[in-house]
Amino acid sequence: EFAEISIRDIDQIAMSSFPLCMRHLFEKLREDHHLKHGGRMQLGLFLKGVGLKLDDALAFWKAEFSQKVGAERFDKEYAYSIRHNYGREGKRTDYTPFSCQKIISSAPGVGDHHGCPYRHFSEENLRAALGKMRVNSRAIEDVMDKVRNRHYQLACTLTFEAVHGTSCDAGINHPNQYFSESQKVVQ
Ligand code: SF4
Repeated sequence: EFAEISIRDIDQIAMSSFPLCMRHLFEKLREDHHLKHGGRMQLGLFLKGVGLKLDDALAFWKAEFSQKVGAERFDKEYAYSIRHNYGREGKRTDYTPFSCQKIISSAPGVGDHHGCPYRHFSEENLRAALGKMRVNSRAIEDVMDKVRNRHYQLACTLTFEAVHGTSCDAGINHPNQYFSESQKVVQ
């Protein structure tokens, strides 16, 4: 398992090692200073899984949400659910990060940013997102081919391979596994 990640490095780590589903949530959070419940769960548990400690998680979410709803409302309405994700509230369950299968089968509504981009983005938005990740046009066509055949995790695996310039024989089945495979390569 990995050492802690700090909020200081998080933007750089997001760029280099987050799968597209988490990059998208991360960017939307930075942009809108807000995420709806489904997005907070999907990204929050992923960040917990990559080693963001509870205190850092609270500081990270508060820095964004405060810009939108104010610090006081963050403390009152949102801090609880973050502590909850870490098993510090309610039934004290230590919630585990979502697998690809769970994320792919989720049903994001209007204004939601959770879900799997390979499954839930329009073709146009997916192409644009892959371009932003510097996936070359040949690889983008290969990814779109997998998407058309509903092989979303294979599409993600091909993206991983294009971005990292290395093969990923295990395939991608969990966002936190994508992250750990990536860290092996980029470190
Ligand atoms: Fe995220 Fe999995 Fe979809 Fe990749 S296949 S974007 S890791 S949910």
